[in-house]
Amino acid sequence: MAVLVTGGAGYIGSHTVAELLEAGEEVVVVDNLTTGHREAVLGGKLYVGDLRDQEFLSRVFDENEIESVVHFAASSLVGESMQHPGNYYSNNVYGTLCLLEQMNRSGVKRIVFSSTAATYGEPEQVPVPETSRTAPTNAYGDTKLAMEAMIRWFDPAHGIKSVSLRYFNAAGAHENGRIGEDHRPETHLIPLILQVPLGQREQVTIYGDDYPTEDGTCIRDYLHVSDLADAHIRALRYLREGGSSDVFNLGSGQGFSVKQMIEAARRVTGHPIPDVTIPRRAGDPAVLIASSDKAQRVLGWKLTRDRLETIVESAWNWHRSHPNGYGD
Ligand code: UDP
Repeated sequence: MAVLVTGGAGYIGSHTVAELLEAGEEVVVVDNLTTGHREAVLGGKLYVGDLRDQEFLSRVFDENEIESVVHFAASSLVGESMQHPGNYYSNNVYGTLCLLEQMNRSGVKRIVFSSTAATYGEPEQVPVPETSRTAPTNAYGDTKLAMEAMIRWFDPAHGIKSVSLRYFNAAGAHENGRIGEDHRPETHLIPLILQVPLGQREQVTIYGDDYPTEDGTCIRDYLHVSDLADAHIRALRYLREGGSSDVFNLGSGQGFSVKQMIEAARRVTGHPIPDVTIPRRAGDPAVLIASSDKAQRVLGWKLTRDRLETIVESAWNWHRSHPNGYGD
């Protein structure tokens, strides 16, 4: 019996595949490799194709005994989603519909879904609990919310049980040094900061220092990607044990400002990392910190890498040894 991981060649997907393999699971990966990397898949069986290709998807389900799905495959750039919302609804929402219909045809009854804090938009309260209002401020977050809703409706209708995991800021890299973050273009803070000590960028750009926070820069909740991956294994276990469909936040519960992140990178790399401040990036909430109490209570999830330095060090190890990502 296998776990199907869609988007298993991506950043969080590949770390989850690594954890599943370590847990002794049989893994089948589906990825269209638009943004994923073949080299990131450390084991299991890889099928290269698109969820919207029904013939392809039914072949994957016919050739393997799939018992659960972990669903990452999606487009995930906020800026791009605002320029090309149609592509996002097609790839994310229609792709998920194709997956759910195939699961239903094949009698697969469990799905763990990779959702996002972007479903909340500008948070009503911090730390953000799962009961907060969902009001995405960009098309990406809205597609994820639509995917969550669609997945939820497949439970009463077809008995497909689901866990949606709303991540805050995934960061860091696997301790084995073989997989890490490689987005093209890179838009995330930590890899962009580390491009400076790598000699690939002169300085890091701070998007606004006039937020209502202590140092004026945005505060985010950074979570080690392996802790995030571990939550998927626990969610799968929860569903296998008969858990009901539910939504969980995943974050560390701690917030760090952009300036604090740059400081941490200076300490870890020993590089001065010059910075320059420019105006705010549209759509960035000032503070996003998760309340993950529910995941800890119900899924038994625990943070094991909660020191900021540990996260930045693991990212630095990866980027230093793979300055051009998987292109090396
Ligand atoms: N950020 C920044 N400079 C950059 C990239 C990001 O100041 O070059 C800020 C961004 O405004 C946000 C935080 O860093 O407050 C984290 O951004 P990222 O894109 O990594 O994740 P997001 O929180 O948008 O999902």
